[in-house]
Amino acid sequence: MIPIAKPMIGQEEIDAVVSIMKSGSLAQGPKVKEFEEKVASFCGAKFGIAVNSGTAALHASLNAAGIKAGDEVITTPFTFAASSNCIIMQGARPILADIEEDTFNIDAKKIELAFTKKTKGIIPIDLYGQAYDADAVADFAEQHGLHVVEDACQAIGASYRGRMCGTLGELGTFSFYATKNIITAEGGMIMTDNADYAELCRRFRHHGQSEKTRYEYHELGYNYRMTDIAAAIGIAQLKHLPEWRNFRLSRDKVVETLRAKGVGCGIYYPKPLHMHPFYMSMGYKPGMFPNAELASKEVVSLPVHPSLSQEDLNAIVAAFEEMSS
Ligand SMILES: *Cc1c(COP(=O)(O)O)cnc(C)c1O
Repeated sequence: MIPIAKPMIGQEEIDAVVSIMKSGSLAQGPKVKEFEEKVASFCGAKFGIAVNSGTAALHASLNAAGIKAGDEVITTPFTFAASSNCIIMQGARPILADIEEDTFNIDAKKIELAFTKKTKGIIPIDLYGQAYDADAVADFAEQHGLHVVEDACQAIGASYRGRMCGTLGELGTFSFYATKNIITAEGGMIMTDNADYAELCRRFRHHGQSEKTRYEYHELGYNYRMTDIAAAIGIAQLKHLPEWRNFRLSRDKVVETLRAKGVGCGIYYPKPLHMHPFYMSMGYKPGMFPNAELASKEVVSLPVHPSLSQEDLNAIVAAFEEMSS
């Protein structure tokens, strides 16, 4: 059976863990700090605050944004329970809004239906690594003064209009659970550009103590700290993220292989309308429709007509299996 998920653990991860074990300093320490700085810089965020799960990252983010008992926070019903349970953990109430049919992410047009006088925030989710419509959600949030906490637990390394997932809201969260994009076994991180939020999250993971003045409790917190063992795994994993993210076959190779195997295929459409002379003469220019231009470089059309036999379908599937193995 092909496993549904498989952590990619190499010698580097194993050596990193062994060296932390031998160092004798296992709990939150310099490796956690290094991991935070590396993830924040990878994502273009000012601050990264490591915690021991994606759930803890969501909980700390809502707390930093000031979500409290009596508030309402809008999220979707099509996600892992943590996206919504963290709202209840703050004593607030999750209000669900439906998803878009094509992206499975929150439908900005449905947020209005869930909105009440008690609404204080929105948790959009980048489900399956696909960014939610951040501009549309930000428009609504700005109009109504709402906090946006991005649940990017499945989306480290993904982006939206040139901005990295995890940085699309005021706070964003990653999970490094064993089946996620990169792993620390259990773990999570908060991204933010706001120094006050960062400090609140650091205190929240440490029973309300500031890391500068220990044994002075500012407010309620938890033990949500990450270990240096976990962080060392994360640092090794992060290095691989660009190459794992870019795993893709070149279109030319796909077309060539399919044709060699007798599978007809086409490219519809290799050039969007606005890049043809006739349309350019009407004033259209390359660069005006970046999504259409990207699609024209990536799409491949496969045979899909009703007279395909089971044998034909098997041959097409086998060709793809061979290319990706
Ligand atoms: C995994 C996940 C979480 C929670 O992360 P944990 O590290 O398991 O606590 C939250 N939201 C989404 C969308 C997730 O996929």
